[in-house]
Amino acid sequence: MKADVVVIGAGLIGAHTAVQLVEKGLRVMLVDPASPGGEQAASYGNAAWISSHSVLPPASPGVWKQVPKWLIDPLGPLSVRVSHLPRALPWLLRYLTSANTDEKLRTIAGHLRALLVDAPALHAEIARRTGLSHLIDEKSGLMHVYRDRAAYEADSLGWDIRRDLGIACEEVEADELARLQPNLTRDYSFGVYVPEAGQCLNPGAYCAGLVAHAEKHGARRISAGAVGFSKRGGKLQAVLTTQGEITCGAAVIATGARSGALSAQAGDRVPLESERGYHFMVEGGSNLPGPSTAVMIGDRKVVISRLEQGVRCAGQVEIASPDTKADWRRAEIMRQHLSAAFPSLDTSEGRVWMGSRPSTPDGLPVIGPASGVSGVYHSFGHGHVGLVSSARSGRLNAQLIIGEKPEIDLAPFSAARF
Ligand SMILES: Cc1cc2nc3c(=O)[nH]c(=O)nc-3n(C[C@H](O)[C@H](O)[C@H](O)COP(=O)(O)OP(=O)(O)OC[C@H]3O[C@@H](n4cnc5c(N)ncnc54)[C@H](O)[C@@H]3O)c2cc1C
Repeated sequence: MKADVVVIGAGLIGAHTAVQLVEKGLRVMLVDPASPGGEQAASYGNAAWISSHSVLPPASPGVWKQVPKWLIDPLGPLSVRVSHLPRALPWLLRYLTSANTDEKLRTIAGHLRALLVDAPALHAEIARRTGLSHLIDEKSGLMHVYRDRAAYEADSLGWDIRRDLGIACEEVEADELARLQPNLTRDYSFGVYVPEAGQCLNPGAYCAGLVAHAEKHGARRISAGAVGFSKRGGKLQAVLTTQGEITCGAAVIATGARSGALSAQAGDRVPLESERGYHFMVEGGSNLPGPSTAVMIGDRKVVISRLEQGVRCAGQVEIASPDTKADWRRAEIMRQHLSAAFPSLDTSEGRVWMGSRPSTPDGLPVIGPASGVSGVYHSFGHGHVGLVSSARSGRLNAQLIIGEKPEIDLAPFSAARF
């Protein structure tokens, strides 16, 4: 087997990369043992936010105070599986110190803003070219809701940082919130609306559609797992897979939470953890009494979105190996949050899902050339922002491979920062 470029992993990052590469006339081979955008991928079950304002890394100053709770309450919004603790400890220590000052937090927010700034428009443009416009709502806006103004003010640092980066955030008082979100419980009386953000209406179908488009324009796909690289004189010769070798000039590692082993083989040991999340989804049409605009419920730390398939409540961070069994009590917690936020929605039946966010300790993805094998490029570690950042990540990967200057500075995203 032969290709110009092997894209390893057909989640949203690999899918966008493949689309960009075929559009540049390169022969692309996509390698994934599972279906593009299938349930194994984080790209399938996420909260669907194309949130260009998601610039705050998960670890903020003072987050270390929460550590005892993470260990004691196994069903809290953020927890660490005790059996996984020894493995996760070095990552956790980096996580706790990555944004523990105002200055570090603002620096990371600036880097994320450069990656995400025009994400809704980028997705809309690519969706138009690929016949997937029905899956992207570029102008939905997104809403954060709080019990009251005091709860919002307790969260003010993050909003100040967003405003300083030029992000418009509109305060919404109780009456207006009730008008905009008629199905939301009145327990929430204050909102912040972010007009620039957008939403995907079915992330799994979006991913599958992008791959189908790439295939229609010449990309090939094999059902295989990549296991390593063959190189000569430090230069990539082939990607080794469970179905044989693919001779190629370049390869992109886009295997989400499972990227650690391949990146180490390419010369970079990146601290990468699996932050597992869950969703509970009530299936049905647009008459389900859910959110009008997707909402983040501040105190519950969940996002509730209306998708093509129904109403989805997604959230939770469980630091655990992607291979250990799901703890479905967490999906039940998602159901309870959904029911509490939208009491008129019947949540007696729904679909549950668990998936792994591929997360670095500083909340920034790893994008750029590998240090040990020339021709291999990293594109993983997109953590909580892998949908919103996938369109730009795909463009950056293509620019690197064809030797164009990347459209943003990639130094902050280099594997060398670790
Ligand atoms: C609950 C939850 C809510 C989220 N909400 C949002 C949101 O609202 N907005 C947002 O921007 N992000 C969100 N995210 C994050 C986002 O979903 C992820 O960052 C993103 O999907 C990662 O995409 P990926 O392509 O890197 O990985 P994945 O989607 O996980 O895809 C990786 C692919 O690689 C394949 N693979 C693995 N190993 C190999 C191998 N050895 N060889 C070949 N293929 C392999 C897998 O089969 C898989 O198809 C959320 C995540 C979760 C869990």
